[in-house]
Order: sequence, then structure tokens, then C-alpha cells
Amino acid sequence: MTTVYDGALPILATDMHGESPERISELLADGFLPPEGDLLTAVNTFLFRTGGRTVLVDAGAGTSLGPGTGHLLENLRAAGVSPELVDDVLITHLHPDHAFGLVTAGGEAAFPSATVHLSALDAQHWLNDAAAAEGVHAQIHRWAAQALTPYRARGRFSTFAYGEQPVRGVTSVDLHGHTPGHSGYLVSGDGERLLLWGDTMHSHTVQLRAPHVAMDIDSDRPGARAARMRILDEIRMRGWVVGGAHLPFPGIGRIRFRQGEARWVPAPYRPLECA
Ligand SMILES: [Zn+2]
Repeated sequence: MTTVYDGALPILATDMHGESPERISELLADGFLPPEGDLLTAVNTFLFRTGGRTVLVDAGAGTSLGPGTGHLLENLRAAGVSPELVDDVLITHLHPDHAFGLVTAGGEAAFPSATVHLSALDAQHWLNDAAAAEGVHAQIHRWAAQALTPYRARGRFSTFAYGEQPVRGVTSVDLHGHTPGHSGYLVSGDGERLLLWGDTMHSHTVQLRAPHVAMDIDSDRPGARAARMRILDEIRMRGWVVGGAHLPFPGIGRIRFRQGEARWVPAPYRPLECA
């Protein structure tokens, strides 16, 4: 599993709901973060090989969110993988920091050989329910449609239901709430299972200790909260390794549950053995 860094974006305390501002400041301070939040929260994407295919989970922000993000393609090349070699892109949800990197600045497919996979529920919402959207959500609908245009035009866009395997060996997991079709991906290897999530947590510093804290951008705050609680429970029971789009780069580790509190334990860097 290789984490490919797309950049960093601000996750602001003022966008967090469900706790008093004082409590949120306190939780941030415990993580040595300023009261404003984490202004340089990572945007991670995940690359791996399975069943002879090269798979990318999420595509970064592309040109949607300014120069702090959108570095996936250069970092992918630095990791020795040309974008043409990617066979499948699994998208966790259609927010721009996860999907707009599917297209170049000119609107071409950034991954010309790839099929893009997305939950049917997210596709239904972001591609078909645009008329009722306002403000930032209207902009997200436009970005979502643009990101998928070249793939849909070439028949390289595919949707799935939760529990299905969009790529053999990779099972989609229901994490809806943050968006109507927000998905995780469960990957098996070396006797362990790794759950990759998109926006189940924006600020692990706050939301691991206060998982009821929801974000402004959540489509459905109670749903997002319920999904986070449910998946944390499942991770605790099953001992899954976790990879998160906004966990600190490289964003892979475990969660230690002790005395009712959860703590992030990043996987240590280890030398890469080249085959
Ligand atoms: Zn995100």
C-alpha cells in the first residue's frame, strides 16, 4: 500500500458541530494544534496492486482547491507509476478533494486507461440531484459532473452497491452520511485487513475522542455521526488497520481503544523491499 500525497487543506474548528467551541479548542490543544483547527490537514490517496490490477483510491483535488492541493500526478510519477498504468480508481465520494483530480486542468481524463468506480448512491445524488442544490453544494455538483465527464463518455464509469467488490478482492463498505453514498474500501493482504476511508474523520484529533462531532460539509450530520460510531465499533471488534484520506500523512495505522477512548497509532515507516 503506497500513500500518494495530494497536498494539504484547512480543517477549521468553526466547521465542527456537536461540542462547545471551548471543548473543541481543548481537544485541539491536546493534539498540539491551534484553536483555529489544523490548517494543513493531509489529502491522501492510496495506491496498490491486486489481482494484476493497479488501483488508486481517491484522486485528490486537481485544480479545484488551489495550489495547496492537486499534486497527486507529480507524486504518483515520483513513486514510479505513470497515470496511464492505473487500471481502476475507486472514489470514496464525489467531494472535490477526493474526485476532481480525476481530470486535468483541460478537463481530460488524468487516468486515461482507468475505470472509475463509485457507489450508486453517490452517483445518483451528485450527478442527478443538482437542481435543488445551493451555494457550495451547487459548486460541488458541477465539479462532480466535470470530474466524471471523460470517463462516462468512454464507458469507463461504473457504480456499485455497498458490499459489492468494484475490484476483485476490494469490498465496498457503507459509510453514508457524510455524503449519501460515502464508501469505505476493505482490502485484504498478508493475513490482515485494511479499511480505507474518505471523510469518516476530518480531524482525528477531535473526532477520535469526540466521534459525535460532525462537520459543516456533512450532507447528513446525524448520519455521518452514526457511520463514524458504527465503523469505529467494527474496527475495534475486528482489529482492522485503517487508512484515511485526512489522517496525518501517510495516513495508515491502527486505532488503540482503551477505557472508552480511542487513540491513533500511526504505522511506522519501514524500509521498502524492492522486488
Ligand atoms: Zn475530504
